[in-house]
Amino acid sequence: MKPLDRREFLTRVATGTSALAAVRMPGMLGGGTPEGAAPPGRGAPLGAGAASGVAPGDVRTGLAEPAFRPLPLGSVRARGWLERQLHIQARGLTGHLDEFWPDVAQSQWFGGDAEGWERAPYWLDGAIPLAWILDDDALKKKVGARVEEILSRQKADGTYGPMAAAPAGKPYDVWAIFLVNKALVQHHEATGDEHTLCAVQASLKSLQASVARTPLFNWGKYRWFEGLVPTYYVYERTGERWLLDLARTLRAQGQDYPAVYAGREIREPTPRRGLWTWDKHGVNQAMAPKLGALSWRLGQRPADRAFPAHMLEILDRWHGQATGMFAADECLAGKDPVQGTELCAVVEMMYSMEVLLSVFGDPAFGDRLERVAFNALPATLKPDCWAHQYDQQVNQVQCTINPDYMWSTNGADANIYGLAPEYGCCTSNLHQGWPKLTAHLWMKTPDEGIAAVAYAPSEASFRSGDVPVTVRLDTDYPFRETLSITVTPERAATFPLVLRVPAWAEGATVRVANGAPAGMRPGTFHRVERAWTGPTTVTVRLPMHADVGRRYHGAFTVERGPLVYGLRMEEEWKRVRADAPHRELPHGDFEVRPASAWNYGLLLDPEHPEAGLSFEERPVGDVPFSPEGSGMQARARGRRLPEWKLAHGWAAEVGPGPQSSDTPVEDVVLIPYGCTNLRVAELPEAKG
Ligand SMILES: [Zn+2]
Repeated sequence: MKPLDRREFLTRVATGTSALAAVRMPGMLGGGTPEGAAPPGRGAPLGAGAASGVAPGDVRTGLAEPAFRPLPLGSVRARGWLERQLHIQARGLTGHLDEFWPDVAQSQWFGGDAEGWERAPYWLDGAIPLAWILDDDALKKKVGARVEEILSRQKADGTYGPMAAAPAGKPYDVWAIFLVNKALVQHHEATGDEHTLCAVQASLKSLQASVARTPLFNWGKYRWFEGLVPTYYVYERTGERWLLDLARTLRAQGQDYPAVYAGREIREPTPRRGLWTWDKHGVNQAMAPKLGALSWRLGQRPADRAFPAHMLEILDRWHGQATGMFAADECLAGKDPVQGTELCAVVEMMYSMEVLLSVFGDPAFGDRLERVAFNALPATLKPDCWAHQYDQQVNQVQCTINPDYMWSTNGADANIYGLAPEYGCCTSNLHQGWPKLTAHLWMKTPDEGIAAVAYAPSEASFRSGDVPVTVRLDTDYPFRETLSITVTPERAATFPLVLRVPAWAEGATVRVANGAPAGMRPGTFHRVERAWTGPTTVTVRLPMHADVGRRYHGAFTVERGPLVYGLRMEEEWKRVRADAPHRELPHGDFEVRPASAWNYGLLLDPEHPEAGLSFEERPVGDVPFSPEGSGMQARARGRRLPEWKLAHGWAAEVGPGPQSSDTPVEDVVLIPYGCTNLRVAELPEAKG
């Protein structure tokens, strides 16, 4: 079947001869308009049926209400260091990947002949929110044109992209369809472009037909819950009950993660040069916590609510890393701090936490989100966002093309900073990290209030009832512990301001205007409920206390607030594979070697290790997550461990117990993990 052009597509929709018209049958609309009565081209509301026939409350019947609702894309804007970070990203790979990287530039999704599976949709999944959060006209234009290219190739049966081109009779893995629709609903949310929503709706209808013929397998089976994101989005705007049937079908056909997590196999590290498996694939594990939230909305099963915390507990216990992530290079790999975590897993874990925060309103998911976002995410991106790693290591003392690698399933270049080290998934998927964090910092409460569920400098606009309100957060958090929130309603209004109090924030306080500070309980959401008139400043203090943990083989980790600290190292960067195309752009592949000693152990009193640390504020730099720009640093006493050397090109494993050394005691400087490119963040205990 040849692709429809746009005019033909809209004509078919308008005359009731397209797949889209079929999905708008009155029975499916739950009491909507007659078939074809409301052509849903640009400017004509797709939801006409829903809007005229279904009351807003009814549209949501069938899905449990989330604890908090994310604000429409573009309602939350970045400020301060976060705005600088987003601009760095837009000037880096995200803003330019489509100009030179064939797998996006000439993607089959856009009519080219390069990769035609997940890469272009991954890029859009991050470039769309980045463009609209920054309100960057040039980026919006280029992203919008790419969306248009996908929509213009949609067939009358609702398929698009590679699914439309798949050979007849050959089973098609629908993972990329989940993904592209997840990206496209963001485009609809940001622009209100009804044609985008129509296209997703028609695609979901074709998906329903596809899974009836060929049940989910491979990626689609293991990522079934990602398909629920666009399905719910369309359902909440149309009320079409078949979408809930589709959600139930995907769940029924999808992988049963609770069964996997009830077994013992998930606890075992993948053997070296070992077995790549679907069940232990790291990115799958990072995506899967959200299935509890998405499945719970369908039927409010208590087991769904309980599963995400259980899953995270198992991952932490058997594979957990200091960053809030787990080792997976790229399958689950135990607790050794050199074993590595894939970048895709980092950004997917963040998005999972954002969904969980929204649906369940549990502040622990906010704590986890910040831990991953402020540590694991920035550490694995080159500070200028022109290169990234595939695998980051908590103890990462050099990043080289290393044929002697000890990854479980990855290869020699998996930890260099490059354009597409190891494999190109992270190149295309890294973009969603910062923008989606920004979009989810503030969420609407069910009682017309606003919740700060994660903290970074930002501003949000929303309506409390019919009163427009802005909330602005000025802060250098996570490098500082004071947050200044200004609430400005357009006219007097009463609503709650809900504040997440991290579990680590003992002694947290909130002060409204010039009132007395009030205590807040860590690990809860604190409500400030009042009649707001004019701009009101709410000052939040989240005291950050030094905290020293013990991890693999008893090594120390230094934490303070949401930040983990690692040894500050001097670095030597070297461009490799210099014959890469498009050398005029700053992308490339880089090896990084240590230019200072890294083999330190810490001298800390095991009874009171925190007493041996001091912290010092520094200006937060123009590049906030870089060694030079780090807004905090810590000092401790330590000594070098001459026996601790490289093994297989990495920091060797250190056995349990205090390590002997007769080297002089030195001052050891630690900086936030997210600001490092090389680091040691699990430091052995040195003998006194
Ligand atoms: Zn990846």
